[in-house]
Amino acid sequence: MGQICGGLQAVSAGPETPKASGVRIMSKVLQSDVAIVGGGMVGLSTAIGLGRAGMSVTVVDRLDAPETTAPAFDGRASAIAYASVRMLEALGIWQHMAPHAQPILEIRVSDGTVSRGPGLLHLHFDHRDMKMAGSDPDGPLGHMVENRFTRIALFKALDETPNVRLIAPDTVETIHTDKTGTALTLGSGQRVEAALLLGIDGRQSQVRAHAGIPSSGCSYKQTGIVCAIAHECDHLGIAHEKFLPSGPFAILPLKDRRASLVWSEKARLAETIMGLSERAFEAEVRRRVGDFLGDVRVTGGRWSYPLSMHVAHDFIAERTALVGDSAHGIHPIAGQGLNLGLRDAAALIEVLAEAHRLGLDPGGAETLKRYQTWRRSDTVVLAGIMDGLTRLFSNDSKSLRLARGIGLSVVDRIPPLKRFFISHARGTVGTLPKLLTGETPA
Ligand SMILES: Cc1cc2nc3c(=O)[nH]c(=O)nc-3n(C[C@H](O)[C@H](O)[C@H](O)COP(=O)(O)OP(=O)(O)OC[C@H]3O[C@@H](n4cnc5c(N)ncnc54)[C@H](O)[C@@H]3O)c2cc1C
Repeated sequence: MGQICGGLQAVSAGPETPKASGVRIMSKVLQSDVAIVGGGMVGLSTAIGLGRAGMSVTVVDRLDAPETTAPAFDGRASAIAYASVRMLEALGIWQHMAPHAQPILEIRVSDGTVSRGPGLLHLHFDHRDMKMAGSDPDGPLGHMVENRFTRIALFKALDETPNVRLIAPDTVETIHTDKTGTALTLGSGQRVEAALLLGIDGRQSQVRAHAGIPSSGCSYKQTGIVCAIAHECDHLGIAHEKFLPSGPFAILPLKDRRASLVWSEKARLAETIMGLSERAFEAEVRRRVGDFLGDVRVTGGRWSYPLSMHVAHDFIAERTALVGDSAHGIHPIAGQGLNLGLRDAAALIEVLAEAHRLGLDPGGAETLKRYQTWRRSDTVVLAGIMDGLTRLFSNDSKSLRLARGIGLSVVDRIPPLKRFFISHARGTVGTLPKLLTGETPA
């Protein structure tokens, strides 16, 4: 039987009665305004936002909290943009993340090689440049938080949110959607009915496949190798992005003289690197990090993620909407995937909260169209920019390398261009949903 949290009354499905054929008799129907498949970082943030706006929500995830918060599950840390922090604060999630959050005060971008180190031409963003942008002059550029701590914070905030029921671990066996609503049959035998179905179930989305929504994209034939290091000298809150011949190599500051590495490597080579002994792996890490942090030690495990990009042709279908990685996936070159998903969540929460306040159907076509109009073109533009950057900075041609170096130093010398990039990194560009400015909708 799955775990059930949140403010809804815990509902027991009762003992299942297996038929001779193996078909189970459903003993309970769980009804709510919204059903969500996928309780990852975006799914739980969306559920908390909808619950706090007064809607009843049922979330189904195939994995439970003990599994997804175990240290070995996900070794990544995410750069959380300034606007996303405002949203997480407004939803009562950030207070549980803040003790684990490392402010990013500067970002240094350089082009180089492993043997020769960074080139002379580089780009430097400083949080003090925010003075030029005219807002929050002392605020950092963003924060680094280990995904594990974000998940723990989300589960805590979920416990404090009325109206949200989480069923996990469980699987979705069937989905039925028609003009009156949606119904899910779960592996446990429970049936979930709602006016609206949200697919927040990641890149291989079952909901997207069920809705018949195609997506376009490509594989970068790169793997993101992730690990954490402890180092001797203080990182001073500086994030480093080095563009190496095989792909971007990021050193991202964490609390307590630690850093998270995201090392994009050609897929074939990454397999070999993942198979290295601890000593040999650490030696490769040291070669790439350099000596500016003093002595460096790899702590904990290593993880690898195939890197690709995709955008769904539609973010909505009949009584269905896609949010987060199920709608789009991008390369982690600029640490924007989760931020983009939270932006979807903020827009959808605002649109649905307004419909709820006016007594409108949350799964109505007009409501869903508002969400799609708000989010899809923004996403297509950002995914295109990230794709271009990834291709440009993963190419080892000598002339491109020179052009890139010149490009970086040109941006470095033109304050309005720097402000443009900083505003994008902070997530403060475009028509912002209220939550991204720290306001709660409706
Ligand atoms: C190496 C790397 C570094 C990154 N760094 C950053 C960064 O610094 N900043 C940033 O903003 N982004 C970053 N990202 C991107 C970010 O991690 C993702 O965009 C984000 O995790 C997507 O969250 P999600 O909740 O949409 O999907 P997921 O994290 O994939 O969650 C999906 C959830 O759905 C559940 N699920 C899936 N299928 C089913 C099913 N059929 N039934 C029930 N449950 C199901 C899963 O168990 C999971 O809990 C990085 C990505 C990578 C690979």
